[in-house]
Amino acid sequence: MLIDIHKHKKSNSGNLEFIVEMFSVGIHPWDLNSLEDLEHFKIKFNQKKNQLPQNFLAVGECGLDRRRVGIVNIAFQLEVLKWHLLWALEIQRPIIIHCVRAESDILQLLKELNYQGIILFHDFAGNEQILKNLLKFKSYFSYGPGLLKDSCQKQLSLKSTPLDRLFFETDDQADISIEQIYQKGSSILNLNPLELEKQIQLNLFSFFRDLNNVSSSNLINLLSMRLTTQN
Ligand SMILES: [Zn+2]
Repeated sequence: MLIDIHKHKKSNSGNLEFIVEMFSVGIHPWDLNSLEDLEHFKIKFNQKKNQLPQNFLAVGECGLDRRRVGIVNIAFQLEVLKWHLLWALEIQRPIIIHCVRAESDILQLLKELNYQGIILFHDFAGNEQILKNLLKFKSYFSYGPGLLKDSCQKQLSLKSTPLDRLFFETDDQADISIEQIYQKGSSILNLNPLELEKQIQLNLFSFFRDLNNVSSSNLINLLSMRLTTQN
């Protein structure tokens, strides 16, 4: 069974009650517009908090992006991320993090909070030293379509990732299958595909260790919902 730990769907109604798949939810840094957005989101979620459906499994994706132009500044992004981290901790859900050229900002925040929750760094592209620092937390790393490009940083990062902290994803690339990603992963790691498949299934149990209703048979895709205050 191949697990896709992070993927998106084009049509996102934002109606969490009607999603039948297992999903995560959060505000992506690309969708941040103003401080009022976070306030609005907080009010909305404080109301919904106790009514979130059973298939709401993780917070995110949320995070930091220093490369994208035209989005809010890093200080605001950090404030929003901090709020997501505390929320995830409060409801005992793992958090899925988008991090582009902001690894040291995230590290600093995690240290400051002495963060004890479970974290997935999706589409990870940090170097060995960053990886080592992030592994001091309960961190997992997932790799996606970027792996298919030859000799990229993501391939190097994958090789340095401990096998028990590893996942694969298709993210927003609907034309790429999770089978392709697993295949590429097993060839980069020089690992038997079946062994890799089994390992990722084990990782799923440890990733969702705080939730007792998750097994690989009911989670093949974890759908990521990008919320804005409009939905
Ligand atoms: Zn994504």
